[in-house]
Amino acid sequence: MNNLMTKVKDQLDQAGIKYEFTKLPDDISMDVDVHMKFHGKDMSHAMTNMVFKTEKGFIVAQRRGDTQIDSKELKKLLAVQRLSLATKEELEQFGLEPGIVPPLGYEIPIYMDNKVLEKDVIYTGTGDRLFTVKLNPNDLIKVNQATLGDFTNLEDVQSGGRVLSGIRATGRLHLGNYLGAVKGFLQLQENPNYQNFYMVVDLHTLTTPYDKDTLRESVRNIIIDYLACGLDPTKSTIFIQSMIPEHIELAYLFSTVMFVARMQHLPTFKEKVKQHPENVTMALLNYPVLMAADILIYKASLVPVGIDQEPHLEVAREIARKMNDQYGLNLPHPQRFATRGEYVPSLLGEGKMSKSIEGSYINLTDDLETIKEKLAKAPTDAGKGAKAPTEGGVASLLEFVELFQGLEKRKDYEKQYTTDGLRYKELKEELAQAIFNELKPIQEKRRKLEQDLQYVDQVIEEGALQARKVASETLNEIKKAMGINYD
Ligand code: ATP
Ligand code: MG
Repeated sequence: MNNLMTKVKDQLDQAGIKYEFTKLPDDISMDVDVHMKFHGKDMSHAMTNMVFKTEKGFIVAQRRGDTQIDSKELKKLLAVQRLSLATKEELEQFGLEPGIVPPLGYEIPIYMDNKVLEKDVIYTGTGDRLFTVKLNPNDLIKVNQATLGDFTNLEDVQSGGRVLSGIRATGRLHLGNYLGAVKGFLQLQENPNYQNFYMVVDLHTLTTPYDKDTLRESVRNIIIDYLACGLDPTKSTIFIQSMIPEHIELAYLFSTVMFVARMQHLPTFKEKVKQHPENVTMALLNYPVLMAADILIYKASLVPVGIDQEPHLEVAREIARKMNDQYGLNLPHPQRFATRGEYVPSLLGEGKMSKSIEGSYINLTDDLETIKEKLAKAPTDAGKGAKAPTEGGVASLLEFVELFQGLEKRKDYEKQYTTDGLRYKELKEELAQAIFNELKPIQEKRRKLEQDLQYVDQVIEEGALQARKVASETLNEIKKAMGINYD
């Protein structure tokens, strides 16, 4: 236990109030979202302690995890003109560290937002990175003598906001991309509360070996796939990442708050290193930082992507938190929007379906014969046993059955496996047909779009104009906050 945490504990004990310390896992990130998931509580039960500097001295503002500071209101309450977040060095004077400020135990006046008191229990820092404390905020104010006030606004995640997602131009779209990502795009596009941004991430494509002569064609093909699946440029902004150079500028600024070791330990990075050991570039390491810029430049709070992208979203939230803490910004903490097909397995029976893994995928453009041929190659077994396999080729096939023919059908097959035996030839025939039935209307629409490339190019051009307007506004705001401002 460090000194500060001992002090916190002593003060709570002396006051005789109830509290509970919880040890977090050693390798947990600093992200409050992640801590709250660990506790099994939502963000409204988190309390953040933020140290600010004013012309009258330092103060601590305590806000609920699902709220943002309204600096106008806080200035009014404090009767000050200037308000900025304390720097790391300034925090050190009080024996504090950014991100792990406890709710008491140091000599700075404390202000608590009234919304915190709406909860009977809250989780907050202890001054030790690996511990949180759970207590009743009504008890806490008796000890830390916090002054109450109204100086936050609720984060507006539920009632709307912006949505962003993207797909690499590393090949044609497959069932995994469709079920894990595009189906989510389509659902959110129809919700009038959300403003949707969907792009082709050509810059992320450069992080693994690619062909410069066909890149343009591949990018346009994905835009056509988007439109064929039902993305509608009158409802969503559809664009190409590199046409908005602001993403790259913001990624550079974000890279100043992320540590190299954190990026090297990401599972997605390690996987790509295994896949392309000869191509471990700076761009590959920086991928999640650019992705954070892609999301936060639109202040998107919701990101429809497959489960493989969760570690990248954690990085995006960490960056948002650091930027907000260090520069007084108000960036959202983006959450993943999950679909039923958030993890579509590879046809090969190992890992996920991926554009860049030959033999792993069924493309949205595959005809019935091709689908049959691909399924025929999927590895199977004798079709009989005590229990249907939960991994490998057969498990993948059963997962496809569930996704395209429903849970009942899957259960039927599982029963056959443990009784008369499962005939894969028939299973594969029926499954191929079910998959093709879902893809047929997409393919028909695609053929029409291929005849009207002028329209496709117009969508790309207009999308870039709309996206750039939003992106350049956010970039300017962030540059100003970081002191890069020469107007
Ligand atoms: P690559 O192999 O080049 O990385 P990919 O198939 O993984 O290609 P991405 O462009 O990296 O595709 O990802 C696009 C979107 O599709 C992301 O939201 C990702 O989470 C989702 N996605 C990719 N593969 C799957 C899968 N097998 N199941 C569910 N979602 C997936
Ligand atoms: Mg991928």
